[in-house]
Amino acid sequence: MYKDYTLAIIKPNAVRTGKTGPILAMINEAGFEIAAMRMVKLTIPQASLFYEVHKGKDFFNGLIKFMTSGPVVVMILLHTNAVEEFRRLLGSTDPEKAAEGTIRKAFAVSTRMNAVHGSDSNENAEKEANFFFSGIERFY
Ligand code: ATP
Ligand code: MG
Repeated sequence: MYKDYTLAIIKPNAVRTGKTGPILAMINEAGFEIAAMRMVKLTIPQASLFYEVHKGKDFFNGLIKFMTSGPVVVMILLHTNAVEEFRRLLGSTDPEKAAEGTIRKAFAVSTRMNAVHGSDSNENAEKEANFFFSGIERFY
């Protein structure tokens, strides 16, 4: 059966502090299937392109500096309504507003260092998945 997908990134703060395993456990327990996964260290041009929609915002430079500060884990996750369901599992961008039981409630340390990224639409999920993965790296 066809399932929707989303693109997730475990951000540098979470990788650096050893939260990759616990975050993957939460993702699995919530019923997402990992269809592609790789560890990468983004360059400044790559991170700027990935977060292009935020260019010009006051937090943009800090965001790019943070996202290039260390390795990240990128993955494609399968689930029905994957984009919406994964954003629900993530919780609010600002961890102080994130609900109990969400990834950001558990692992975010600030609005910038909020542990994990999730695509915000099916269109962006497709773009972001193509940004990181070729066809032979995708197991679905
Ligand atoms: P993401 O796209 O990483 O999943 P999001 O969709 O919840 O997060 P966006 O509005 O797309 O939030 O912002 C992208 C990222 O930019 C945030 O996850 C956060 O790391 C950073 N960011 C957003 N707003 C702020 C802010 N006010 N101050 C600092 N960093 C911010
Ligand atoms: Mg976003």
